[in-house]
Amino acid sequence: MLAPFRNELLLAADVESVAAAIATHAEGLGLCQEATVLWATDWPAQRHSCPQRVVATDRIAVADAALASASGHAVQGRLQAFALTGNDSTATAVLVLRHENAHPVRSPHLDGLLDTARARIGEALETVALRRSVARLEQAERLQRALFAIADLAGSERDMPELLRGVHRIIGSLMYAENFYIALYDTGRDAIRFIYFVDSIDRDLLDSAQWLPLKKIERGLTWYLVRDRRPLMGTTTELAQQVSGPLTIHGADSHDWLGVPMLRGGVVCGAVVVQSYVEGARYTHEDQALLSFVATHILTALERKQSQFELESRVASRTRELADANRVMSLEVEERQRGERLQAALYRIAELSSGDGSMEEFYAAVHGIVGGLINAQNFYIALISEDGNMLEFPYHVDELKVDYPSRPMGLGSTEYVIRTGAPLLADRVAVRRNQLEGGILASGPPSHCWLGVPLTGSEAVIGVVAVQSYTTEVSYGPRDQELLTFVSYHIATALERRRAAQSLRAANARLEQRVEERTSELRHEISQREQAELQLKHQVMHDALTGLPNRRYLHDRLERILARMRRQPERRFAVLYMDVDRFKVINDSLGHLAGDEVLQEIGRRLTGCVREPDVVARLGGDEFAILLEDAGDADTAIGMARRVIGAVAQPMRAREHDISSSVSVGIALADDRYDTAEELLRDADAAMYRAKGRGRSRFELFDQNLYREALDLLAAEGDLRRGLHRREYHPHFQPIVRLSNAGVVGYEALLRWYHPERGMLAPGSFVQVAEDSGVLEAIDWQVFEASCRAARSLLRDGGYVALNVSPRHFANSDFDTRLLQLIAASGLEPNAIRIEVTEGALLQSPDQLGAMLQRLQKAGVHAALDDFGTGYSSLSHIHRFPLRVLKIDRSFVAGLAEDGETARVSASVVRAVIALARSLEMEVVAEGIETEHQRQTLQEMGCEYGQGYLFARPQPIDYWLGEDAWAPVP
Ligand code: C2E
Ligand code: MG
Ligand code: MG
Repeated sequence: MLAPFRNELLLAADVESVAAAIATHAEGLGLCQEATVLWATDWPAQRHSCPQRVVATDRIAVADAALASASGHAVQGRLQAFALTGNDSTATAVLVLRHENAHPVRSPHLDGLLDTARARIGEALETVALRRSVARLEQAERLQRALFAIADLAGSERDMPELLRGVHRIIGSLMYAENFYIALYDTGRDAIRFIYFVDSIDRDLLDSAQWLPLKKIERGLTWYLVRDRRPLMGTTTELAQQVSGPLTIHGADSHDWLGVPMLRGGVVCGAVVVQSYVEGARYTHEDQALLSFVATHILTALERKQSQFELESRVASRTRELADANRVMSLEVEERQRGERLQAALYRIAELSSGDGSMEEFYAAVHGIVGGLINAQNFYIALISEDGNMLEFPYHVDELKVDYPSRPMGLGSTEYVIRTGAPLLADRVAVRRNQLEGGILASGPPSHCWLGVPLTGSEAVIGVVAVQSYTTEVSYGPRDQELLTFVSYHIATALERRRAAQSLRAANARLEQRVEERTSELRHEISQREQAELQLKHQVMHDALTGLPNRRYLHDRLERILARMRRQPERRFAVLYMDVDRFKVINDSLGHLAGDEVLQEIGRRLTGCVREPDVVARLGGDEFAILLEDAGDADTAIGMARRVIGAVAQPMRAREHDISSSVSVGIALADDRYDTAEELLRDADAAMYRAKGRGRSRFELFDQNLYREALDLLAAEGDLRRGLHRREYHPHFQPIVRLSNAGVVGYEALLRWYHPERGMLAPGSFVQVAEDSGVLEAIDWQVFEASCRAARSLLRDGGYVALNVSPRHFANSDFDTRLLQLIAASGLEPNAIRIEVTEGALLQSPDQLGAMLQRLQKAGVHAALDDFGTGYSSLSHIHRFPLRVLKIDRSFVAGLAEDGETARVSASVVRAVIALARSLEMEVVAEGIETEHQRQTLQEMGCEYGQGYLFARPQPIDYWLGEDAWAPVP
């Protein structure tokens, strides 16, 4: 009975057949209601049942119990199970018997069957297992290849669509994948994107780039894949059971569907789905596992690609950003460079404006600068002329060598810019249009493009700066216009600045020229004035008559040399003081002109005696001086004095007269006693007086005696002043008598000094000192007052008192007034007083004196000329003065007493004087009549009046008022 069973088993080709034979034969034993073989190559997964039945739970439980038991046998209720394989393998088969009631059975047939079955099913299962493992290996290999391919794809240069197509191909090699899609899910946006979608039925192409909100496919299969995070597989019905809620089918309904979520760390990142619309193409669990496995790799590859893509796109976008930034930056740089160029250009223009090159250079430099900024191949600057009527082109550069003559303001583009004060940018068309519409006339050849901007000065448009092109290659744009406009402001400023500087320079030049002219005028004036000054100075410092240095000159020179001597005491010097002897005689007898000639000749002779640096000076009148600069001792000075005396003594001719002249010389040797030039001159003068006193034409050295005398003189001066103060000066009166009867006609008041120590002094001992020291006038007035006082009583019986008036008084213009006042104050009639003047007074200032004498005479005061004959007054000019009386000098009267020649001369002089007086109707008074003989002679000669010791000596007033006083003879 086992044999057919064994044959059947031997014929059985697979596990199914073996299991079917076992189940059939076990049932055939009749020990049970039903026999089933449960088997699986991978228990408890994929259990198969033979015959095919629903594998109920109770059968599986009893099978498991049998497999778990050591005996391989188990009974549960009506079910009895026998393990057909060992429990050491997952390839397992169990025979399950169902009985009518709970009575397990054992029989030798069953055991035999079980043994045979066990042997055969083991083999069959092993074969299946082997086949399975071969298939698994193949599958694993395919999978591995697929994974490699996917990894390869991810690493390849391929782009995303290509990668996805590659993935599709690979999946297709693993399973049926005609319809395939990959979706990516973004948790953040809760959106899904079908990055790859191939469907043979659903042709609704989804945008692979677009993220769809997950809501749009709510409760669809893909939605559940994402939400439930587990694979779904099977028919729609099966799928509906697998999902966690109600299912909505989006798109075409498929026959079989397999989808797996793509997970990364438990998070859903997407889904991979294959589906079939055809019968027979069904997905297995292997497919599902495979797809799940591949899905993770797809995700990796996608992510890799994505990140590569993202990296690339990031790189690209970064590159783009960088490029953008770069572009912006280079624009900025360009802008900045342009700005810098512009700035530099403006600086240079500013610099130019203060430069001092020519305007031509300035324009050329501006052109250079503009050329550095824009194309300025054709460039010109136009300026409005000063009167505003002309347009001038001070600078122009033109490739066509166009001429730019000045022109009246017309209708050109340049004028247009000036008129509007706005830039003009025009191409050929615009130019033509402007010509037609705007009244702009073309000047010069047509330009392709013309750009002109106004040069706007501080007040108005002063011109235009323009560039133009003749070719289509060069044209200007708004930027060029903007730039040229900008530059134009600076050009205008620079131009104005330079113009201002130029006009300033011109003004300066004019001013300078004016100053130059004025300076030369002034220089001329100054030199004239200097010359005049020099002349004046010369005049001031020189004597007009002789041309010799004058007193002032000598004085200055002496002061300087004295100062020098104080520094160099060894450098002593000498002053020679000279007075021409009897010069007045020459003057009076031969006239002033002859006198002048004599003085000039003497000056020449003196000059001939000295050499540089000695000085010959004329001190005034007939006085000269010589300064001997280096007279170490007295001998030098004495030698010089002798030479001078000798030189002057030589005969000379003046006005056709032979004249013999002489000088008296006084020498003063400078030493440390002297402080001033006056002191030196004074001493030289004193020595000169001594020389004169000792008999003329000789010299005297100022020595200690003279010095003492000088000192005495000083003392005397003091004395004189004191005398004035103490009223020590009094008049004595000497009668003037009629010679015929000795009757007194008047008195002469004669000065006496009642000196407290020296007794009574006559004028001879002090009058000169008093005159020199300037006290004499005061003394005179003291005497005049006393005389007038005395006159009242003295002249009770008529007559007059004659006052001796020193010549100095006549320098005071009010002398006459004062005298008349005194006379009036004394209660006298003017004719009670007469004045006596000397010849010296007549000579000093003849006109003034004449007038004064005239006034006095008119008032009743008569004048007498005293000491007539001693002086130099020529008889001829006496008539010019209103003189009442001539007084013949005592010396002639005395001469009358002598014998021989002197008496003869004296007599002739007296006779001449008397004759003259008579002719001029003047009285004659003879002085110093001491003898009767003299009186007689004089009377005989016709002299009416006289005075002298013969009649009376000068006596004080008291004498004359006394008892024994002479009564005047009527
Ligand atoms: P004089 O005006 O010619 O005066 C005459 C001088 O002759 C007086 O000298 C007088 O005393 C003197 N005399 C008169 N009779 C004789 C005589 O018979 N024999 C001699 N040998 N001499 C006689 P006295 O007073 O010494 O005056 C001298 C000069 O002084 C005057 O000369 C006069 O020029 C001047 N003098 C006199 N009184 C004054 C005065 O008050 N003022 C000024 N400025 N000069 C005066
Ligand atoms: Mg007198
Ligand atoms: Mg006299």
